[in-house]
Order: sequence, then C-alpha cells, then structure tokens
Amino acid sequence: MSIVRVALDVPLSTLFDYSVDEGIPVAAGQRVIVPFGKRQLTGVVMEQAATTDMTPERIKPVTHVLKDSAPLSGELLGLLRFCSDYYRYPIGQTVLSALPVRLRSGKPLVSKPALSYRLSASGAALDIAAFPKRKVVQRRILARLVQQPCSLAQLKSLSPTAGRQLQTLLQEGYVEQCEEETSAGEHRFEQTHTLTGEQQEAVEAVSAALGYACFLLHGITGSGKTEVYVHLMHHALQSGGQALLLVPEINLTPQLENYFRSRFPDLNMVSLHSGLSEGARAHNWQLAQQGAAQIVLGTRLSVFAELPGLALIIVDEEHDSSFKQQDGLRYSARDVAIFRASQRRIPIVLGSATPSLESYYNAQSNRYRMLRLAGRALAEARLPAVRCININQTVMHNGISENLLREIGQRIAGNEQSLLFINRRGYAPVLMCAACGWLSGCMHCAGKMVLHLQEKRLRCHHCGYQTRVPVACPDCGNPDLLPVGSGTQRVESVLRERFPDSRILRVDRDSTRSRRAWQTMREQIHANEVDILVGTQMLAKGHDFPALTLVGVLNPDSALYSSDFRAAEKLFAQLVQVAGRAGRADKPGEVIIQTAFPEHPLFRALQAHDFEGWAASQLAERKMAGFPPFVYQAMLRVEGKLESEVYGYLDQARAAAIALRHEVEVFGVVPAALPRRANHLRAQLLIQGRTRKELQEFLRAWQPSLDALPSQRLRCSLDVDPLDF
Ligand code: ADP
Ligand code: ZN
Ligand code: ZN
Repeated sequence: MSIVRVALDVPLSTLFDYSVDEGIPVAAGQRVIVPFGKRQLTGVVMEQAATTDMTPERIKPVTHVLKDSAPLSGELLGLLRFCSDYYRYPIGQTVLSALPVRLRSGKPLVSKPALSYRLSASGAALDIAAFPKRKVVQRRILARLVQQPCSLAQLKSLSPTAGRQLQTLLQEGYVEQCEEETSAGEHRFEQTHTLTGEQQEAVEAVSAALGYACFLLHGITGSGKTEVYVHLMHHALQSGGQALLLVPEINLTPQLENYFRSRFPDLNMVSLHSGLSEGARAHNWQLAQQGAAQIVLGTRLSVFAELPGLALIIVDEEHDSSFKQQDGLRYSARDVAIFRASQRRIPIVLGSATPSLESYYNAQSNRYRMLRLAGRALAEARLPAVRCININQTVMHNGISENLLREIGQRIAGNEQSLLFINRRGYAPVLMCAACGWLSGCMHCAGKMVLHLQEKRLRCHHCGYQTRVPVACPDCGNPDLLPVGSGTQRVESVLRERFPDSRILRVDRDSTRSRRAWQTMREQIHANEVDILVGTQMLAKGHDFPALTLVGVLNPDSALYSSDFRAAEKLFAQLVQVAGRAGRADKPGEVIIQTAFPEHPLFRALQAHDFEGWAASQLAERKMAGFPPFVYQAMLRVEGKLESEVYGYLDQARAAAIALRHEVEVFGVVPAALPRRANHLRAQLLIQGRTRKELQEFLRAWQPSLDALPSQRLRCSLDVDPLDF
C-alpha cells in the first residue's frame, strides 16, 4: 500500500491522505476520485508520501484513478502551490479552481474530436472560377478548402458569415465533414506589413531575450502593438514553442482569434474563456496540454493552462482590472503570468497604451524593460483632437450639451459615426421626490435603485432587487418624481428626440444580454448601419470601428475626486481607450469631454496625449500619500448579518495582527465603500507593507489567528494586492 496526498475542493488549507493499492501506479498531478465524508470528490494528487500521520484504520483508499487526461505537470502544480501561498487561499481550492469545470468533475472526459471540413468529390470537381461571383463567401471557403481541410474556426476568419455559408455548401454537397487534425500544423506566416522602426526594435529586443525578462510595451493606440505580438509569436513558434496571449475580455476574443488565425493560417490556435461550452473548453485545454495548440488565446483563467512548450507570454491591455479575479482565488492573471514566465525562464510582454502605474513604475526602476511605440503605425492616422466643454457654461439637454449635439448632427450629415460614452446603464441613477427629498434607495443595500424606464422598473445594480416604478412618492404622495442624472437609456432618448431619422444603437449590459446580440451589433457598426452609438465601457475596449470620427464623453467627473485612489488612473485609461476609437482609419477623430473641470490636469494630459507626464504626477502623489506601487497591500473583508459579529471578527483579527509585532502597518476597521449589500453589513481591514516580502511574511504569520476565529455566519476574504476598495 502507498500513500498519496490529494488536493480537494474544500475550504481547508491542507492536503488529504489516501491509500492506493500496490501495483496501481499513481503519479503526482493525476486526477482521482476519493471518498470525503459521505461524498465522492474529484481531487488532484499533489505528491506521494512514504508515511502518514493517520492511523491505518482511518485512512481510506482512493476510489478511482482518472486516466482520461495526462497528469498535471510538476511545473503547473508548482505554480498553483505558489498561488495558494501568495494569495492565502486553500491549496485544494486553488488547484481545482484552476482546472476547466469538466476536469473538476468525475465525469469521464470524452473529448470528441472537433470536426474539420474538406471538399467532397463534387466540390473538388468544381471550377471555382465558374462559381457564381455574388456568392463571395462561398467562393472564399471553396478556395481555402482546395488548399487543405479546415476547422470551422479557421473558416470563420474568412468572413463573419462563413458559418451560414458553410451550411449551404454542406447541403449542396460540395463540402463534407472529416475529423480534425490535431497534430501541429505547418508553420506559415502571413507577412502583411513591413514593421516600423519602433516595432522592429521591440521585436528584436524581446526575441533577443534569453531566459526570463519582463517587457512593458507601451504603445499609443494605433501604434501597432498587435503587429508586434504577431511577430513575437512567429519567432517563438518557429522554434517549436507555444505562445500564450492573455486578453481582458471574452468579447474581444472572437475578433482577435480571427485576426491571429488569418496571420497564422495553418497553425492550431485555441481560445479559452468562459463563453465556451464546458466540453469545448476542456477540449481546448487538452489540445494545449498535448502541445497540439501552438497559440492559446484566453482570458485570465488561461494563465493556468497546461502548456508544455510555453515559450512566450503576452498580456494585452495589461492595465485592465478584469485580469484580477474578484472572488475565490483572488489572483491577478497578469502577476501570475509574470511569475510563470520567471519560473519557466521565458520572456513576457505586457502591452498597453496606458500601463498600470505598478507596471510603469517597475519599468522605470528597471525591473521591467520599457519598449515604446510612440508613433501610429499608419503614417496618415492622426491621434484624435481632445476638447473639453464646460457643462456650467453651455446649454445642456438632459445631460448632453448643445455643442455636442451639433457636432453629432454634422457627423450624421457626413455619413460618419459618433459614439457617446457614459459609464452608467439604465435611464437615471436615482429617482427623487422634489417635494420631500425622498430618494429611490434599495431596501437591502446602502445604494440607490437605478431607474430603468423602458422596463418601468427600479433596479438595484448591487443586489439585483427590483420593483415597479412607484406612481407617487412613497413618503409624501407627491406624484411628480424626478429622474436625477443620466444613464445610457436617457441619452438614447434625448438623441432620438433630436435626431428622429438617425440610426441609434445602445450598447450596454442590458442591451447585449445574449452573445448573439452583441455580435449582431458589431456587424451593424462595421457595415456602417449605425449613426450614433451610446454605450458604456463595453464599447471602449479594443474594437475597431472605421467610420467612427467623434467620441463624446458625458460624465467623467465623479472619478476626478473619488475616495478610490485608483479612480483617476482608471478614468485616464478609459478615456484614452475610447478616444482611440475615433479616427482610426483615414479620417481624423475628435473627442469632446463634458466636464465641470476643464482645467483638471487629467484632461490637460489627455489633450496633450501625455501619458508620461500624467503618470509622473500620479506617481509623485502616490509616493507622497504612501499608496501602491510604493507600498503593498492586503485587505481583509468581512460580510455578515450582525454588526457585532462582523466588527467583532475584524477587531479580533486586528488585535492578532498587532500582537504579531511585524513591521507592517495595520489600519483601523472601517465600513466598506458600500457598507450594506443584500442585507449584509460589510467592513474591512487594510494591511500595508513596504515590500512584498514584508507583507507576505506577515500574512503567513497571521493566517493561523484568522483560521482560529469563529466565522460560521460570516463571509470572510483576504485580498492580496486588492484593486477595489
Ligand atoms: P494598437 O493595438 O497598438 O492600438 P493595432 O495593432 O490595432 O494598434 O494597429 C493599428 C493599425 O495599424 C492596424 O490597422 C494595423 O493593421 C496597422 N499596422 C500595424 N503595424 C503596421 C505596419 N508596420 N505598417 C502598416 N500598418 C500597420
Ligand atoms: Zn416625497
Ligand atoms: Zn440592493
């Protein structure tokens, strides 16, 4: 009999010992099913052991060894051990949460081979030149299949409608299905541009790196960062390696995927994100694990993909806060990626037009290497002109200034698109009674209910609670209730009134509930079937809309004087990103910002396209105030129904922290920014260290005290390197 230590998805910071019969080979990294209490759980063998502290009667045998996928590598297990330790999260939960859902379950992994398509005999006999000219996409598909069989994903890079056209070709019998080739394809690289000098330098610097090196690719929007990525991947793949590209948003993966596929037409590329079905995700994960997928494109969880040939990691839009997981294992995929690169001794590239101040500071202090793309890749493309409109000195129509409306009118006349950016969905953020001052508060939260006029509802965006819009004030009976402030719906209605004949499209979480809806909208925008876009940050990210020449920013001011010290940094990044949507093709773009503070340094820096100056002033402020990146933070958050329990827990945790007498700074226990959510009180305790090491040593020493505190009715979480306060 031998002993294995197994990681299980239970909230205890320990591994569990089980026995295996002699003669059954079990390796570290193998998935197993074991009894746990009355249940059978799937776990991962972390190590084999010679002895156990458990008595022979109590130790139970492993029920089943799963052999449907290769064991996890020692490298991945090491990465997960590091994450469990760094983020103070139980090892079992860390390991299991890093696996695709299908691999966490005991269900056998029947990995169905994905289908490929090839010409049938009658398809091969076709003369494509004689094929009807108007069937453009079908012609393209046929021409492609003449060269070799392709997967659906590969064909989709030819056109967004390739799926439908392929169905037609299948029905007509010109194309037939076959099994996908999962062996690595031939490496063909579509060289479409000559690199600019700056791009060339960046590519050479990274390609010359031997072993671990972290590069910050700071390139203005339109400078051609993607082109640099493509060349770097080419370099890594040429020597048989795999490349991992992390992106912040699943919404961006389909278009990026198509783009990379068009550049590496014969390579196997897979995407990993939560928009995929469980089966597809597990399948793609396995292709990566087998080395059959040379490029993996994914959102944050893909930083844990098994990649035996990993030779390069790229983190696009590295400043984006969606790389940080906000529950469970609260990891930063960017930071884990950096650790992974150093563990594997390979280069990593962090790309952004507006790097996070953490990364920027690291580059300035030579911990990372800075690579700059200061010019736009297309010579004729100009950065957009940025102009501020003082909302206190102009005529406003429910949140939109007359000047901005006039500009939009001109764009419509010139058949150009405008985008209005407002970071609030719904009609108005609050409903008010002017007679008595009643506000539409949520009965379960400390926040306000948002008016959704189309649905005639008040909705709490914090807890999801909703009610009908009251016909009169619940406190005084006054029937005249006023919507205060603007959200996307209100902006849309103002525009419809002013431009009744124009085509207006609202893009926010409410209007894009289905994935199909967002896809259709993007196609409409590209086909120039839209005159005015109204949207939240969803629209700001990465999308390339060629006819767009005007961006209006409606309510940026709340972030200027926020209590969150990162609010201004985030706003700057967001505005650069939306501004980057304007005038990307041959037409110059313009950005109009509506603000009460047109002289604010943030807008000045934006107008001057001066990230460096802005970052320098922000870093100086952070240094003075003692904020990251000059200190390292961890936040203990607690939620519960009883105030005494929530604060009691935190007070004891704080006392224990102080008793440890470490060098770290232990702040006071304070209510969270939203002090009550869904009837739970929320409070927090901040710890700050001058170095990562100092903070980590403290957290390790503190953990046993936290584990010993009673917490049955509380939700507690420790957030290392928190982004939200
Ligand atoms: P970024 O991601 O930095 O905002 P992109 O990678 O989207 O910029 O590039 C902007 C545009 O410039 C794209 O249309 C791209 O095809 C084009 N481009 C990139 N590099 C070159 C180059 N070396 N020569 C010509 N065009 C380029
Ligand atoms: Zn009232
Ligand atoms: Zn609520």
